[in-house]
Amino acid sequence: MKKSETLLIKKKYAENIDEYIQKGGFLSLKKVLGDRIPPEKVIEEVKKSGLRGRGGAGFPTGLKWSFIPKDGEKKFLICNADEGEPGTFKDREILLYAPYLLIEGMIISSYAIQAEVSYIYLRKEYKWIYDRIYKAIKESEEIGFLGKNILGSSFNHRIKIFVGAGAYICGEETALLESMEGKKGFPRLKPPYPANCGLFGYPTVINNVETLSNIPIIIEIGGDNYSKIGVPKSTGTRLISLSGIVKKKGVYEIEQGKITVREIIEDLGEGIKENYHLLGVIPGGISAPPLLPDEIDITYDFESIIEKGSMSGSGAIIVFGYKEDKKRELLKLLKSAVKFFKEESCGKCTPCREGTWAINDILEKIEKRETQIGEGIEIIDVLHKRMKGLCACPLGESCAIITESFLKKYSDVLK
Ligand code: SF4
Repeated sequence: MKKSETLLIKKKYAENIDEYIQKGGFLSLKKVLGDRIPPEKVIEEVKKSGLRGRGGAGFPTGLKWSFIPKDGEKKFLICNADEGEPGTFKDREILLYAPYLLIEGMIISSYAIQAEVSYIYLRKEYKWIYDRIYKAIKESEEIGFLGKNILGSSFNHRIKIFVGAGAYICGEETALLESMEGKKGFPRLKPPYPANCGLFGYPTVINNVETLSNIPIIIEIGGDNYSKIGVPKSTGTRLISLSGIVKKKGVYEIEQGKITVREIIEDLGEGIKENYHLLGVIPGGISAPPLLPDEIDITYDFESIIEKGSMSGSGAIIVFGYKEDKKRELLKLLKSAVKFFKEESCGKCTPCREGTWAINDILEKIEKRETQIGEGIEIIDVLHKRMKGLCACPLGESCAIITESFLKKYSDVLK
């Protein structure tokens, strides 16, 4: 552990179920079911903790759960393990090293919303982790943490794994639902929201891997104590996927609001690689606009990054720069981001389907110096206006926003 790390989730890494139990694993589940804590009390505790979703949108978790109707025979919980945002690899680490923590979190969360079945929606590219998770589920079943009348209570629960087919858009929760129902992974128009009409029409909560892994910790230390970690609007820790031109890439766990982006790069990433010059930082996966080097002395939390015009998104920090005098190579990074959006646009909405291709063409022309940066920005601005509020999900708009932002902030570098 590095000095600037604060460990909650990483402390629970375990090779097998015995090691997890030795580390206090499943005590939170025992507390909830053994003490017969009512489901609404569990939701209340999560609300008190201030936990916000770690998948990208940062929506308050307890509030999301409270939208699930109390009545009705069937509800579902889905763990979104479709971690496809380029630069993001922290959920993979949890799936590999802390599957028991995730399973415990899923059981408690399912109890809170009274779901008897939950699913892990695993991205196709993580199929190689399937056996690890499957083994952890089986071990949990054998000990009696999953199955009928868990720990002598009246609560029954099963966890199943669903493997996706390799589309980035299925990380969007309604596209994920379509995919699980055997349909093409197109995002749904909302409302209705999944809390009312989710998987096969039943009320469904969809939470990210890291979000669910925080639940046993909240129950263990209490919502109030959890809310004191971090800062008021960004509580707890976050797993950061650090990549790019830093010396030490990896997944680090930081206390939100207590470490700056620059400190993450310097202390955790051990600084910029030899012979490289820093040009900027993408603070939350490639859908997040970049920050200039003089904008990174801000603490890493939801609000501080939004105030700088970007977002912490999936917690992926991509540090970018150049070697020698090849500053213009920045275009390669931007082009690869736009190519990603263009290829992953599901095609449902015309402004996104056509707009992402048009943005890609503009970059090609800027690269060949056939289009001026200012002209490119103007065209993208028009395309952006055609996408805003007219698409079923934010993908196309994200493509326009980050391209405009890069072109404006780095016009000198890219001309
Ligand atoms: S905005 Fe793009 S990715 Fe999203 S639903 Fe429409 S076409 Fe598909």
